[in-house]
Amino acid sequence: MITDDVQHVMVISAHPDDAEFGAGGAVAKWVHEGKAVVYVVATRGEKGSGDPDMSSERLAEIREQEQRAAARRLGVSEVVFLGYIDGELQPDLDLRRDITREIRRWRPDLVVCQNPTTFYVDGYINHPDHRAVGEATLAAIFPIARDHLNFPEQKAEGLQPHKVKYVYMNISPDADIFVDITDTIEVKIRALWEHDSQFDDPEQLAERLRERAAETAERAREQGNNVGEYAEAFKLIDLSARG
Ligand SMILES: [Zn+2]
Repeated sequence: MITDDVQHVMVISAHPDDAEFGAGGAVAKWVHEGKAVVYVVATRGEKGSGDPDMSSERLAEIREQEQRAAARRLGVSEVVFLGYIDGELQPDLDLRRDITREIRRWRPDLVVCQNPTTFYVDGYINHPDHRAVGEATLAAIFPIARDHLNFPEQKAEGLQPHKVKYVYMNISPDADIFVDITDTIEVKIRALWEHDSQFDDPEQLAERLRERAAETAERAREQGNNVGEYAEAFKLIDLSARG
């Protein structure tokens, strides 16, 4: 399996709860296998509320705590918030620089991120922040983090260039990697329940997650993969053969 030579995993996403939705089952499985997983979250999700009495300041605090609690459930060792404004992410040099810094600091073998090419899929418009963070992440992985002349000031921070071996992109209609999460779907659900500000009915959320993971598992089997009842899907970029 690809992840046999992976020790360090980094999940980079736009908002609190993205990591759990996209990869919560895989994260729990990797932690169980002894891999170290860290999260990088670009914003604090302070726009994600329909409650007219909610302020962005309060929501940011709530969602940061929810994300930390969800990460603890899954055994994630660290959550880094980059502090960008929710709803206004751009794949610009600042975001590239900040993501590059975290890649050079934590030195992941595998990075999980959001697929920047997915504009929309059936019945769903991909959030522009997801595309922005996905694009900045791919740029940070290649070539920025790898080549020491990019953001050379990071050397003074004690950071060295780093080559990521694998990228898994979620929200990918053309997914080609399926992770069997049959043993970890329940912990994924519990992690998502920590994001209390984001749903009304926990059982309905759990049902939706099981349905979606079952559909993904079916898609995996149609493509000849041997998975159990539930799966998560990713598009792979394999950089391991490159120098
Ligand atoms: Zn999101």
